[in-house]
Amino acid sequence: MNDFYIDPKRQNKERILGLFFQHDALSKPQIAELTGFSLPTINGHMKDLENMGMIGPGELMDSSGGRPAISYRLQPRSKLALGAEIRKDFIKICLCDLKGEVVKLWNIGVEYKNEKAYSVKLNSLLKEAISTCGYPLDNILGIGISIQGVVSKDGTEIIFSKILDTSELDIDVIRKDISIPVRLCHDVKTAALAELWHNRKVSNGIYIALSEHLGGALIKSRCIEHGRSGYAGSWDHITYSTKGKLCYCGRRGCIDTYCNFATLFDGESIPDFFFKLREEKSKSHEERWRKYLSTIAFGLYQTWLILERRIILGGDLSMWLIPDDVAFIENEIINRSTFTCKPGFVIKSRVEHHASAIGAALPYLAEEIPEYVRPIESWSTYCKPETVEF
Ligand SMILES: [Zn+2]
Repeated sequence: MNDFYIDPKRQNKERILGLFFQHDALSKPQIAELTGFSLPTINGHMKDLENMGMIGPGELMDSSGGRPAISYRLQPRSKLALGAEIRKDFIKICLCDLKGEVVKLWNIGVEYKNEKAYSVKLNSLLKEAISTCGYPLDNILGIGISIQGVVSKDGTEIIFSKILDTSELDIDVIRKDISIPVRLCHDVKTAALAELWHNRKVSNGIYIALSEHLGGALIKSRCIEHGRSGYAGSWDHITYSTKGKLCYCGRRGCIDTYCNFATLFDGESIPDFFFKLREEKSKSHEERWRKYLSTIAFGLYQTWLILERRIILGGDLSMWLIPDDVAFIENEIINRSTFTCKPGFVIKSRVEHHASAIGAALPYLAEEIPEYVRPIESWSTYCKPETVEF
């Protein structure tokens, strides 16, 4: 048997399983109608899928005469995956199901410290999440750990991380005694994956994280572009002014230094800032917010000129954005543009909460979903395969 052999039985089973990702409930006669398969064929595959725990019988369906048929539904929690997000002062862990929904969420206040003890702590938190989540280990496919830094394509090595010094973060310690796969990933790329999963309309785009620090990820043909090393999409270090403040990256005047949370909020909490902006209509807050959006638009215009793709505004601020803000950014880009632009290319992200943690779990789940209905690629191909460059 060669590598290109396609097992027709497996293909038929995948065809049936895929239908359950498109329909809430289906009876066997409905499956027969949709696939053209005979009832004995359907019975055999459905039995297998039931034994695997992936589908289960539900209520009786309405029938137009004759015996009502039993409906079957996907059992989304038959496969689960964990995504963990590491930030300066907390660790967020999400348990996600086959529909990409959050089944359980842990928000743990742990201060990041660049020492071995932190990896040990993370390891014990992950083990605790597995043992207390209420689902058997057999159902959990893997753990993705998103960090504020660029990671190698295989998820084993951190290649750039200056927001948090991660030189002592040890993947071998983090996965000690955990028998399922564990990998590292770049938080902005995983947030973009969560967006792709929940927004099928996006094929190509630039995902923008408006968070404590800015970030970006490029989307091409529904995959993440990695670039030669993994830096593709890092628009946050475009130089706004060479005389500007020192950036954490070591250079001066990057867009990030003008648009990080420390500069925007100046010690105020996010809810307080937006209360003063939206409810109290504070002039100084309005001024600061416009300046922020305008600087963001300046940076995005550079990327827009080169890539001309949809721009998706995500990150921690996504939930605070109103349509006027999105339109303001888009207009600033259009007004700067050399070319005529059709409006509607700047949109707000659909996933407003926990995007980085959710996205770190999703590629494990994608692997279990038939290719023809798979929302995103699995880890092996989530970044477009690229020609090796020298
Ligand atoms: Zn920088």
